[in-house]
Amino acid sequence: MNPLRSMILAAAGNDTVRRLVATAPGTRAVVDRFVAGETVADAVTAVGRLVDDGLFATLDHLGEHTVDEAQAEHAVRTYLGLLDRLQEEGLSSRVEVSVKLSAVGLKLDEKLALDNAFRICAAAGQCGTTVTLDMEEHETTDATLRLLGELRHTWPWVGAVLQSYLRRTEDDVAALAGPDSRVRLCKGAYAAPAAVAYRRGHDVDLSYLWCANRLLAGEGYPMFATHDPRLIRILGERVRWYGRKQGSYEYQMLYGVRPAEQRRLASEGETVRVYVPFGEQWFGYLMRRLAERPANLGFFLRALASRS
Ligand SMILES: Cc1cc2nc3c(=O)[nH]c(=O)nc-3n(C[C@H](O)[C@H](O)[C@H](O)COP(=O)(O)OP(=O)(O)OC[C@H]3O[C@@H](n4cnc5c(N)ncnc54)[C@H](O)[C@@H]3O)c2cc1C
Repeated sequence: MNPLRSMILAAAGNDTVRRLVATAPGTRAVVDRFVAGETVADAVTAVGRLVDDGLFATLDHLGEHTVDEAQAEHAVRTYLGLLDRLQEEGLSSRVEVSVKLSAVGLKLDEKLALDNAFRICAAAGQCGTTVTLDMEEHETTDATLRLLGELRHTWPWVGAVLQSYLRRTEDDVAALAGPDSRVRLCKGAYAAPAAVAYRRGHDVDLSYLWCANRLLAGEGYPMFATHDPRLIRILGERVRWYGRKQGSYEYQMLYGVRPAEQRRLASEGETVRVYVPFGEQWFGYLMRRLAERPANLGFFLRALASRS
């Protein structure tokens, strides 16, 4: 892994860095680029604009590594309120939600996380939309896939995320390429040791394409989450090679990242879903975005310097 990336991801766990970043004068401008706001109302406004532009969205209430039941309950209630609002605004056919199991209690108790995720899925089902379970650190992959399997007994549309940087993903993808499955394929955003993850970008990309081929050859609905122009070009070729029709797969990108490319793909008739985070706990999310791309770090440092 790029040493700068490792350094930023390590800093993400440091309380002093967290305090420094949170109170730096230019931080707000950077957060605003990647995060849709703090409240449900902010989130609904942001996705309404995306839908007006012909895009789809998945909303993520920021928060992870919940340390007590009350915090997990707060996360669940926020999702339930959000789903109600999406339905009221007529947005639920184009906007779904993304859930981190650690935000609804995975680190406390697997059963609690399952019950909480079940409540969110039930509400989503009633609103006519779907849920995708984000994938987090590699230590949680087994538990996340286990809970996904449980939820899919009742809600076959619950989406999974697979990370191509993990060596195990080539096996996981085979198990998830069946009928009804919805799989978001991404490269992976967390720090992971060489024993479990590919270290070279080239290997991560090869794994991504191997998995994409498996998903396209399968019977499910693949969701290609990447901003990588080279991968997007190759995916376009693979989609045609497998005879996939538009609407039988989708592209996904993050809020604030390559917005022109999101609109270009949509204008060609592709389904493009934007991952829109909102909420107060933006620190971990922002640090992963900075780690991904040195240019983001430059933008961040310039913003800090210009306002201080
Ligand atoms: C919708 C969505 C959901 C995700 N969910 C998860 C998840 O559940 N778990 C998880 O671990 N990770 C998740 N990720 C993050 C993902 O794993 C990657 O860390 C992230 O997408 C960066 O990888 P990349 O494929 O875009 O390519 P990168 O290797 O980061 O970038 C490749 C190329 O893309 C272009 N590019 C990238 N960023 C920019 C930019 N800001 N501006 C212009 N060009 C750019 C550049 O040409 C760059 O060289 C998600 C990503 C998306 C898009």
